[in-house]
Amino acid sequence: MNAIEIKGLTKKFGDFKAVDNISFNVPKGKIYGFLGPNGSGKSTTIRMLCGVLTPTEGTAYVLGYDIRKEREKVKSKIGYMSQKFSLYEDLTVDENLNFYAGIYGLNKKERDIRKKYIITMAGLQGREKNITKNLSGGWKQRLALGCALIHNPEILILDEPTAGVDPVSRRIFWEMIYTLASEGITILVTTHYMDEAESCDILAFIFNSKLMTVGTPEELIKKERVNNLEDVFINYVEKSTNEKVENSFDILRKIIKKEV
Ligand code: ADP
Ligand code: MG
Repeated sequence: MNAIEIKGLTKKFGDFKAVDNISFNVPKGKIYGFLGPNGSGKSTTIRMLCGVLTPTEGTAYVLGYDIRKEREKVKSKIGYMSQKFSLYEDLTVDENLNFYAGIYGLNKKERDIRKKYIITMAGLQGREKNITKNLSGGWKQRLALGCALIHNPEILILDEPTAGVDPVSRRIFWEMIYTLASEGITILVTTHYMDEAESCDILAFIFNSKLMTVGTPEELIKKERVNNLEDVFINYVEKSTNEKVENSFDILRKIIKKEV
C-alpha cells in the first residue's frame, strides 16, 4: 500500500518548469529520501503535496485523497516541516505547540495528550517555558518536528530538516525519525547529506526538475556499478549534463548553481 502516489506532477512558474512530469510512489511506513541539488524542484514538489501550490499538470494521492480535490483531508494526514522552521520566535515552546494544536483544531484533551507525547519524544522536558528564539538550532529543529506532529499525522514531510544543524543534533534528529518510522509513520525527507541518504529505505533523485532514478541505496549503487551513493548521483548528473563532475556532492551543487 502506498502512502503517496505521484502521477505526472508538473509545476510551471511562467514558462519555467520547476517540476517536470514526475511520478513515484512512497510506500507506507518507509523512510523515503528525496534527493537533488539546490533548485532541482524538491521543495516545489513538496509544496504541491502539502496543498500549498496547485499543480500545473498531473496530480498526487495522499492516502488515496487527491491533492487537487481533497486538500483539507490531505492536510489532516500530513505533518509538514518546511525548510525554514515555521516557529514563532517570541512564543515559548509550549505556546508554539498550543498554536499549532489550535490550527489543527485539537480540543484541550487531545492537545494535552499530544503535547505530552511530543515533549517526551523530542526530549523537550524542562524547556516548555523557554522562549523559542533563545533555543539552539538543534532544539528549534526538534520543536519544529514536534509542531509538525501535533495532529498525529500518518505522513511526515520534512524539507531539509537538518540543514545548518550541528552533527550531534543531526544524529539525535535521525534517531527520532527512526522511532517515528518504527511507529508506522511514513516519512518523506529531503536532504543533501549522503550519510542521511544512506539511512533511507528508498531514494528518489531529482535533477533539473526531472526524476532521474528511484531505488533502495543498495539497488542504485549496484545498478550504476559504483561504490557509494555520491558516485551514483554524480553519474546521473554527468549523463544528463555531459559534463564531468569532480569531487563531492557539495561541489556538484555549486557547479549546478554555476557558483564555480
Ligand atoms: P529545491 O527545493 O530542490 O532546491 P525548488 O523546488 O525550491 O528547488 O525550486 C526549483 C526551481 O523553481 C528553482 O529554480 C526556483 O528558483 C524555482 N522556483 C521555486 N519557487 C518559485 C516561485 N514561486 N516562482 C518562480 N520560481 C520558483
Ligand atoms: Mg528546497
